Amino acid sequence: MKSLWMDDAGPERRYAPLRGNVDTDTAVVGGGMAGILCARLLRERGIDSVVVEAERIGMGITRCTTAKITAQHGLVYSGIARRYGLGAAREYWRANQEAVEEYRRLSRGFPCDFEEKTAYVYSRDDRKKLEQEREIYDRLGIGAVFQEHPPIPVQTVGALGMAEQAQFHPLKFLNAAAQGLQIYEDTFAAEIRPGRVVTAQGTVRARRVILATHFPMVNLRGLYFLKLRQHRSYVLALAGARDPGGMYIDEQEGGLSFRTCNGTLLLGGGGHPTGKSGGGWEELRRAAEAAYPGAREQYAWATQDCMSLDGIPYIGRHQKNSRELYVATGFNKWGMTGSMAAARVLSGLIAEGGSRYRELFDPSRSVVHPQLLVNLGQAAMGLLSFGRRCPHMGCALRWNPREHTWDCPCHGSRFDREGGLIDNPAKRGLRIE
Ligand SMILES: Cc1cc2nc3c(=O)[nH]c(=O)nc-3n(C[C@H](O)[C@H](O)[C@H](O)COP(=O)(O)OP(=O)(O)OC[C@H]3O[C@@H](n4cnc5c(N)ncnc54)[C@H](O)[C@@H]3O)c2cc1C
Repeated sequence: MKSLWMDDAGPERRYAPLRGNVDTDTAVVGGGMAGILCARLLRERGIDSVVVEAERIGMGITRCTTAKITAQHGLVYSGIARRYGLGAAREYWRANQEAVEEYRRLSRGFPCDFEEKTAYVYSRDDRKKLEQEREIYDRLGIGAVFQEHPPIPVQTVGALGMAEQAQFHPLKFLNAAAQGLQIYEDTFAAEIRPGRVVTAQGTVRARRVILATHFPMVNLRGLYFLKLRQHRSYVLALAGARDPGGMYIDEQEGGLSFRTCNGTLLLGGGGHPTGKSGGGWEELRRAAEAAYPGAREQYAWATQDCMSLDGIPYIGRHQKNSRELYVATGFNKWGMTGSMAAARVLSGLIAEGGSRYRELFDPSRSVVHPQLLVNLGQAAMGLLSFGRRCPHMGCALRWNPREHTWDCPCHGSRFDREGGLIDNPAKRGLRIE
């Protein structure tokens, strides 16, 4: 299941596995967008780091993104303002808009098809929600653009735009950003101990460790198994489909998203919680056929992301009292700017002992949120159901006939037909006799 990015990522570069022990200041576990950017910005601040990647850099969730670089994350601002106040919404916007600007800066040195675009969020039936979000934009001084009739094949009540956002080729960017970093591929971190990342091939001894493993590999401590859920979505790359000009997303979780890449339309949608039915390529293909008759499907892929309880990522110290273990996760399908924000916050904490956004992203903030009850209910159901068990926490797995995989409805681990591990938090495969 290849994404469009994988066929066009430039010359292949492999990094050797770890052999023996190495010493560094900061060990970064995971070589996706979050891990590579953390190592990159640490290097810019003069901090030595080593990246340990279980497979190949960029080949986790990052290879399947749609790579919109934007501070517009659906209708996030009204939600943050309601829950944490307007000040927090302002800080969220600043952190993410600075991330957009940082991509702009780095992209000058890295050929990665960076293009400026306006990001739009549309609603199919709730104009009021768009107006409330616009009001927050106005109060924060975010220049809003409004389209009454967005040029997408969906019945809408309008679309709210944020100008000066961008899109790019994530793997061209990541491969360029990785240059000059000390990276070990095919090196699975089996265990994290104080000052150590233990692998089968050797140990990385480090003062600090950053977990950039998508779902944190240490997740019982810190309650990440309760604070995160995973949500799966599908993407089709269509030739011969009309370019809508900007980047569009539905304000509802399962709706359609649009962006183009060199004339090819990337249509996203069919989303559903991992391990549950619904959505999928069938739904997306039906939408594509109705909207773009005659368009040709070039690629189809699927992936999933970690969703936090309150729509804000978890970036910072892994737990309140863990001084030298850091985490970057819960990007809510906005992990391009999320990864950059994480790299800026964590490199600031490590190099300078602080970051203006420490509190906003603090992973130890309160977990009191209605979504926590949903996550708890799902975990209880998974534990009480019958069937093949997930090696992560013992939830009953569901067979996914669409992708021929075993999926965990509690935490989102996935396994292939033979039991091989595809997606974490599980750390090993299934035994299938
Ligand atoms: C359909 C879809 C579309 C999206 N589109 C957008 C978008 O347009 N814009 C946007 O901002 N975001 C988007 N996102 C979200 C974004 O793609 C992700 O949030 C981001 O790619 C996550 O990056 P990451 O580095 O955290 O994870 P990954 O890319 O998964 O990297 C984690 C790495 O850790 C490694 N690893 C795991 N465990 C270990 C271990 N024990 N030892 C060593 N290595 C380990 C894995 O092999 C992997 O390479 C989208 C998400 C989805 C689902």
